[in-house]
Amino acid sequence: MIKIALIGCTGSIGRQVLDVVRRYPERFSVSALVCGQNREALSALEGEFRPAVACLADKAPPDLFGDCDVAFIAAGGFCGLSYTLQAARAGKKIALANKESLVCGGELVMREVEARGLDLVPVDSEHSAIFQALGFRRGAPFRKLVLTASGGPFLHFTEEQLARVTAADALRHPTWNMGAKITVDSATLLNKGYEIIEAKWLYGAGFDRIGAVVHPESIVHSLVYFEDGAAVAQLGYPDMRVPIQLALTYPERLPCAADLDLPALGALHFERLPEEKFPCFRLAVEAGRAGGTCPTVLNGAAEVAVRAFLSGRITFPQIAETIGCALDRVPKSAADCFETLCEADLRARAAATSFIYGT
Ligand code: MG
Repeated sequence: MIKIALIGCTGSIGRQVLDVVRRYPERFSVSALVCGQNREALSALEGEFRPAVACLADKAPPDLFGDCDVAFIAAGGFCGLSYTLQAARAGKKIALANKESLVCGGELVMREVEARGLDLVPVDSEHSAIFQALGFRRGAPFRKLVLTASGGPFLHFTEEQLARVTAADALRHPTWNMGAKITVDSATLLNKGYEIIEAKWLYGAGFDRIGAVVHPESIVHSLVYFEDGAAVAQLGYPDMRVPIQLALTYPERLPCAADLDLPALGALHFERLPEEKFPCFRLAVEAGRAGGTCPTVLNGAAEVAVRAFLSGRITFPQIAETIGCALDRVPKSAADCFETLCEADLRARAAATSFIYGT
C-alpha cells in the first residue's frame, strides 16, 4: 500500500491523482490532502479518502509528510516550491507535478535530493517520457533531449492575430485538458521554456543539449537521442493519468489507458518551434541560462501577467512584455536560499503589477 500526501488535491492534476487512487484502492491510500482555498471540495474529498490530515495550505502542519511514502506535489505556482523542499527535508520520495519547484528552486531542490539520495520522479508528460526512455534512470547518459510541444491553439497565427486573441481563445487547448494558468502558458509557449529549465535540473543537461519541437497531435511525448544516433520516444494518447500512475509505481506498470490505434491515428507531424512569434519561450530559456533568481523573476511576473490576461486587463503579447520588463527591472542574485527566492518572487510581482497597472 503506497501512502500519498497530495498537495494541490482539488486542481487538475490533483483530481487525476485521486482518480488513480480510486481505481486501485488496494494499492494506494491518501495520508494527507492539501488545497489552496476550495474548502467545500476538500471536505468532500476528506469524507471519501479519510486522510490523517486534510487542510487548506495556510493551515498545513509542519509534519505534513510524516506519514506518507510519496509526497505528490500537484499544487500550481511558486507556492509549490516550499512543499517540495519540505518533502525533501522529510526524506520522502517526491512525485513532482509542480513546475515552479525546479524552474525557480532547481538548485535548492536538487541539492536536497542529491544529498539525501531521494527519489524525485517527474510527472509532467514530457519529463515522464524522458524518464521512461532513460530506463527510469535520471542519471543515464544521453546525447540530447527533445521535448515535444503541441504548439497550443495559436501555433499558426500571425502576429496581428495574436494581438487580438482572448482568454477564452487561449483556454481552448487543442489536445490537453489542464488548469487555466498552464493552458495559457502552453499558448504562449512559456510552458515549453519552463520544461527546458526543468529538464536541465532533472537530467543534468546543459541548455545546448535540450531542444523542443512542435508535434501538434501530442502522441509522442518526448524523445531522448543517444550517442549512437538512436532516438527513443514514448508514445500514448494525451492522458495525464499515465505519468501520474507511473510516478507512483515505476518500474511496475498497471493498466491505465487504451492502446494506441496507429492506423486510426494516421500521420504524425513535427515542425520547428516558431520562437520568433512566441517570445515567452525565448525569455524562459534565457532566464534559465542566466540562472540565479532570473527564472524566479520570470515566473513571478508570468503569474501576475497571466492573471491580468485572463481578466482581460492585458493583451496576449503583453504577457511577454510584462515578463521582459520584470526581468529588466529586478536585479539578479544567487538562488542559494529559499528566502532569496521569495524576495525575488515578490519583487517580480511588484514590477509586473506596476508595469500592468501603472502603479
Ligand atoms: Mg508538459
